[in-house]
Amino acid sequence: MKKIILIAIIALSNNLLNAQGGECFTPDNPLNQKAISNYVYNQDGPIKIIRVNFHYMLKDDGTGNFNETSDNYSTRPYNGYMYAEDMVKWCNEHWDTNIALNHMPIPAVSVLPKKVRYQLCGVFFHKNTTDYYTYDTHLSMPPFVENSGEVLNIYIQYGHRTNPSAGGVAGGEKTSIFNAYLNYKLFIDNNQPWYHSYVYKIINHEVGHLLNLGHAIQSCCGSMTSNCDGLDDTPTYGWLINNGYTDPCCWNCPSGSNNLMDYCASQTALSPMQIARMHACIDGSKLFYRNCKYKTQSLNITNFTTNKAYITKYVTIPSNSNIVVGNNSALFINAEEVMIDGEFEVQLGSVLNVDIVPECN
Ligand SMILES: [Zn+2]
Repeated sequence: MKKIILIAIIALSNNLLNAQGGECFTPDNPLNQKAISNYVYNQDGPIKIIRVNFHYMLKDDGTGNFNETSDNYSTRPYNGYMYAEDMVKWCNEHWDTNIALNHMPIPAVSVLPKKVRYQLCGVFFHKNTTDYYTYDTHLSMPPFVENSGEVLNIYIQYGHRTNPSAGGVAGGEKTSIFNAYLNYKLFIDNNQPWYHSYVYKIINHEVGHLLNLGHAIQSCCGSMTSNCDGLDDTPTYGWLINNGYTDPCCWNCPSGSNNLMDYCASQTALSPMQIARMHACIDGSKLFYRNCKYKTQSLNITNFTTNKAYITKYVTIPSNSNIVVGNNSALFINAEEVMIDGEFEVQLGSVLNVDIVPECN
């Protein structure tokens, strides 16, 4: 068989804000100020692309969320792969946007580019009714981690059993996003795109936590002294009250925060120090989550049975292999070079997604 070497990106995939604030249960960890004390954010530097996996929690029979073939709700030809691709696109557009802080410090700070995006690395479906309900609270996140140490795992859940206004919870390399599927159903019923923006803003907020950001104000409401996130360019509750602002601790009110790291409707702005802290984290503990960093040098893929994401600098499908991507499954590969030397078949309804990304310094 003729050898095929992939050196460019190919993708053969199928191709609300509601009236409540997003609750977030991430405790404000004692953030490490020293992490950015010597860090200089280069706004002319590269956009840093972080790998993300999407996980759907489903009931035994494949209902209760998006699955491999459908949205389980409408007549749209739409499935979990498509939702993951759309959500990553919307999240990235949101990362590409920054606006001035509603609560501008003195002296005022610039509106800098955030220079963060995601690459969809894998999609996984978990069909277990007990798990579906067990993990539908903020008390424990699902244990189904794929590509640990290289990918942030995002769990798309129906709702939150005990707190309907809950938005998400985050820790380590995982985040549960509550009400994602519920908001999709509301979008279908009402055709309002803000049901989607409710979700992608929460995803970016929770990933902000995973990149070492705390809440700008709203964990410290009422305190005249606390500096919630430890950063000097996000004003404290006490400073705002003492400088003539009306109470900022409200959801979707004119005096409220528009910081991505608060509970607010606009939830978009980041200060220069917040952006610097994220990039310090990406250049530090989350370095190998970038799509241009490889922990593994080479890998032969000789068989494939269920959804998988491979992250390896050099991937080979050897001559004696016979890979069939079928049954609506998905094979994701993130590599610098992929050589296909064996039999390789992608059946209708299944997904092959290959992202060719040169290793970066
Ligand atoms: Zn939060």
